[in-house]
This record gives sequence, structure tokens and C-alpha cells, in this order.
Amino acid sequence: MQSTVQPTNVTAFPALKPGFHLAPLAVGAPGDGQQVVYVECPDWCSEDHVANFVHFLEDVDHKGDELTVAIPSFWNDKDVAYQLTAALSSDPLSTDLQMQAAHIVMGDSGSVDAYLTPDMAEGVADSLIKMACKLREVARTARLHNQFEVAQAVTA
Ligand SMILES: [Zn+2]
Repeated sequence: MQSTVQPTNVTAFPALKPGFHLAPLAVGAPGDGQQVVYVECPDWCSEDHVANFVHFLEDVDHKGDELTVAIPSFWNDKDVAYQLTAALSSDPLSTDLQMQAAHIVMGDSGSVDAYLTPDMAEGVADSLIKMACKLREVARTARLHNQFEVAQAVTA
């Protein structure tokens, strides 16, 4: 019978949680002191943790792709009037459990951001869907109103 020799110089590699991968992270400002370490990163995270370095390991945030809705104004053809954004986020080393957990950050690119639990985000999504349906309705009303006004002007 063959005996199996167990190696003594092997260290068990820490297992990754499902839905996570190891990502390189730059710690410290670019230059001599910057180090690249590997952190557990959720698969939904699209952050480039090397290009967007952190000064301290505790500062690492995971962020998903930003969703945006741009709201134009016919008074300004160069910039949008409002830009509503939403992104999945997680701050794994925060002392706040809601910030540690995956949550959604919404903002309008200027004022204070809103932090939403998944339940809160679903409630906001329901409200946005209702508003979008009403927005189509008022757009149709405005179009009909304007067509009536043009027809009145032609026949007057
Ligand atoms: Zn990440």
C-alpha cells in the first residue's frame, strides 16, 4: 500500500464567498508608498480599485454601474437640468451595518445623496414607474392641447 505524504509547507488559501472575487486595490497615494493588495470584491462591483486608490484600507467602497436618467430643459440645450443617479454600493469596513450591507445610493449630482435599503429602493422604483406612466399621460395631453391650439390658429 502506498502511503501519502502530507506537505508541511502549504498554507490553505482562504475560500472566497460565493459571488465574490479577489480584486487588486491600490492603498496610498501614487508614488513610493503605494501598495497593491487583494481584497474580496463582490461580482457586481465595477469599481477600478487600482485607478481609484484609497488612502487607507478602511476607505474601500464597492460600487456597481451607475444608472442615470437625464432630464433636459428647452431653456438650456447644453446641459441637463437634472441628472438622477442610482448605484449599488457597499462599505464593507464601515461600523454601520446598513453601510456594510449592499445598499443603493441615489443622488441628483449635486445635493446630498440618499441611501436606500433594498426594500426602500423597491418602493422608490414603484413610485418612479407610476411617475413615468403619469409623465407619458401629461405628454399626450400637452401634445393634444398644442395640436388643438394650432388647428384653432389655422381656422381662425
Ligand atoms: Zn469592489
